[in-house]
Amino acid sequence: MNINAFKNKFLDNIYTEHKLAKYTWFGAGGNAEILYIPEEEISLEKFLKEKPSECNLFTIGAGSNLLVRDNGINGITLITNKMNKISIDEDGIITADCGAVDAEVARFAREHNRTGLEFLIGIPGTIGGGIKMNSGAFGSEFKDVLIDVKAISHDGEYKIFSNKELKMEYRKIGLKGKWIFLSARFKSSYGAKEFIREKMKKIIHSRKASQPSGVKTGGSTFKNPLGKKAWELIDQAGCRGLKNGDAMISEKHCNFIINLKKASAQQIEELAQNVKQKVFENSGIKLTWEIERVGNK
Ligand SMILES: Cc1cc2nc3c(=O)[nH]c(=O)nc-3n(C[C@H](O)[C@H](O)[C@H](O)COP(=O)(O)OP(=O)(O)OC[C@H]3O[C@@H](n4cnc5c(N)ncnc54)[C@H](O)[C@@H]3O)c2cc1C
Repeated sequence: MNINAFKNKFLDNIYTEHKLAKYTWFGAGGNAEILYIPEEEISLEKFLKEKPSECNLFTIGAGSNLLVRDNGINGITLITNKMNKISIDEDGIITADCGAVDAEVARFAREHNRTGLEFLIGIPGTIGGGIKMNSGAFGSEFKDVLIDVKAISHDGEYKIFSNKELKMEYRKIGLKGKWIFLSARFKSSYGAKEFIREKMKKIIHSRKASQPSGVKTGGSTFKNPLGKKAWELIDQAGCRGLKNGDAMISEKHCNFIINLKKASAQQIEELAQNVKQKVFENSGIKLTWEIERVGNK
């Protein structure tokens, strides 16, 4: 089937040349050639089985770790935000769909007196993105709480991966192949609601004190090099508050880049590359990106 016949078939859920900026935290970047927002697993499976096999496919969760470049993404961009159910079974195992927001999962666990998932309250992504990034905060990461993940290949074949099979490391996984994570099961243990609420409050408070809030950003731009803090290296290189157009290194947390108003993805990327160069000149350390850059320059 050619791409036009395919588009017509899924007309209700497909948008063409659609702006992606509003689906990312940076609020910058270009269009999706084809945007698809599935509401349930079964329709996604049908879509994948019918899509032209050569068509590129990229998945977005909350877009909180992404910089979509200014000339957009070729092929299909899939957004998972409508697949967001959360449930708990009699053994206390929590299952969350890929598009469920991390903070919602944290609150769900709290309301069911389950402790262990409090760290999710501060990560502004979805479960799918959190698995792909092995996201973490306050001493916990997805690796510590994930039991297994149900995934679907870009051709529509299902598979369950155990935590071990994902080979989760600091802000990355080692799974081979192209997979969309559909849902995940998490372990937790009994905890009194009030105790969990207090833990979450502390996390929220501590984040507000150390990170910019209510701004357009992609979170930590670079990974922490072993034994070092990226923000310290950036600060020591004199980059705090550095600007490129409307893109600026946060004064509050200098591993965060902020889009002050209308920064282009190019301005954001150039600023980060400039910081990377200055850090290298100052410390001899090569920072590596934590934020994923996707699409055409
Ligand atoms: C203010 C702020 C604070 C942050 N704080 C933290 C923090 O404390 N700790 C931390 O680890 N991160 C943090 N981040 C980064 C970000 O929130 C995490 O990496 C988050 O888990 C990304 O989830 P997402 O749904 O937004 O993924 P996206 O940004 O949408 O995508 C990230 C990657 O995941 C892939 N992906 C998304 N969904 C799926 C899916 N269903 N199946 C397969 N692949 C998928 C995408 O293709 C992409 O490769 C922060 C970001 C911001 C903006």
